[in-house]
Amino acid sequence: MSVSNPATTADRPNLLRRFATAVAQWIDSDYCPDGAEKMRAEPDRVDWVRVMPFVILHVGCLGVIWVGVSAFAAWAAVFLYFIRMFAVTGIHHRYFSHKTYSTSRAGQFFLALWAGTTVQRGSLWWAYHHRHHHQHSDDPEDAHSPHVHGFLWSHIGWITSRRNFPTDYTKVKDLAKFPELVWLNRFDLVVPILYAFSMLGLGMLLERFAPGLGTNGPQMLVWGFFISTTALFHGTACINSMAHLMGKRRFKTEDDSRNSFILSIICLGEGWHNNHHRYQSCTRNGFYWWEIDPTYYGLKLLSYTGLIWGLKPVPQSILDEGRHADHHHSVAASERASEVHANVSLRQVIPAAAAIAVATATAAQADLPKKADGPAIHKDLSSELVKPNNPVAPGTGTGPAA
Ligand SMILES: [Zn+2]
Ligand SMILES: [Zn+2]
Repeated sequence: MSVSNPATTADRPNLLRRFATAVAQWIDSDYCPDGAEKMRAEPDRVDWVRVMPFVILHVGCLGVIWVGVSAFAAWAAVFLYFIRMFAVTGIHHRYFSHKTYSTSRAGQFFLALWAGTTVQRGSLWWAYHHRHHHQHSDDPEDAHSPHVHGFLWSHIGWITSRRNFPTDYTKVKDLAKFPELVWLNRFDLVVPILYAFSMLGLGMLLERFAPGLGTNGPQMLVWGFFISTTALFHGTACINSMAHLMGKRRFKTEDDSRNSFILSIICLGEGWHNNHHRYQSCTRNGFYWWEIDPTYYGLKLLSYTGLIWGLKPVPQSILDEGRHADHHHSVAASERASEVHANVSLRQVIPAAAAIAVATATAAQADLPKKADGPAIHKDLSSELVKPNNPVAPGTGTGPAA
C-alpha cells in the first residue's frame, strides 16, 4: 500500500513530461528531448497522446452522419484515394525509398508535397521505415512483419508505437541533405492541414457556384479528407500486413513476401510484393505485361511531361529467373496433379486386380474337394470391385484403427 504511493508520485512528473513531449511532437515530429536514439530503443508501446491526430482521422469519418452524402463527394473521395495512392506508391515508395527514377530538386519538392497529402507522415520517415523493412523483412527487427508481430500489429499497431515515431536520418542520408525535405518531414502535419482546409474551401466554393452538385464545405471535408484518407491508410497498410500472407511466391526470397492481383488493384501495383522483394531497384513491380501495375503506367506518363526521367527497367536476368521459377512451379504442379491421379487410379485398380487374382486362383482349384467346400472367397473380394473406397475389413491388419 504505502510502497506504491512514492512510486506513483515519482512517476507523475514523468507522465506529465511524456504527455507534453507527445503534444509537442504533433507539431514538431523531430522533438525528442531524451534523444531519438533512446526513443527508438524503447520496447513497443502505443503512445495514445502522440497518436491522437491519427485517432481523430478515423473518428472524423463519423462526420458523415451529419453531413450526408452526394454523388460528387463520394466520387471525389474515390478519385482522391487513387490519386494519393499513386503518391504513396509512386513517390514515397518508388522514388524516396528506392530511387527508381530521377527528377530535379524542384520536382522532388513537388513530389514531396504531393506525397504529404497522403497523411502518412514525412517522406523521409516513410523511406527510413521502408528501407529498414527490406533489410529485416520478417525477422524480429522488422517493425511490421505479420509473422513476427501478428496481423493487427503489422497492419496498424506498429504505426502507433512510440519507438517508431522518430526518423533515423542516418539511414536516409541521400534525402536528409535537402533541408526543404527535412522541413516537410519535421513538420509533417502542415501539408495534411492545408489539404484538409482545401477540401473545406472547395466544398464551400462548389456550394456557392455549383449548387446543382449538392455538396458543401463540411461534406467535402468529411469525404475528401477524413474518409478518403482513412481508406488510403488501410489500403496502404494491407501491403505491410496482407502482402506477406496472401498470394503466391514466384521467387524464393528470404522473407515471406507474396504476389497478389487483388492487392495490386487496391494499391495500384504494389501487390506484386514478392517481385519487389526479389528486385527493388526497378520502377515497376509488375514484372510482366500481364501483371497490372498502374503506378508504373502513371510514372511512365509523368516521364513524358519531363517532370521525371530515368525510369529503371527490370533486368533481363531477373525476368528470366522469374520465367524459370514459373516454369518449375507449373511442372511441379502438373506432376503433383498426375501423382494424385495415379494414386486414385491405383486405389481403384488394386482391389479389382486382387479380386481377379484370387478369383482366378480359386477357380483353378475349384475341383479340389477341400477348397470347393470352403467359403467363397472370390465373392467377398469382388464386392471391393463395386465399392473401391470401402475400408479394408477389420482384422486384416491394414485398415485404420477403429
Ligand atoms: Zn514487404
Ligand atoms: Zn520497397
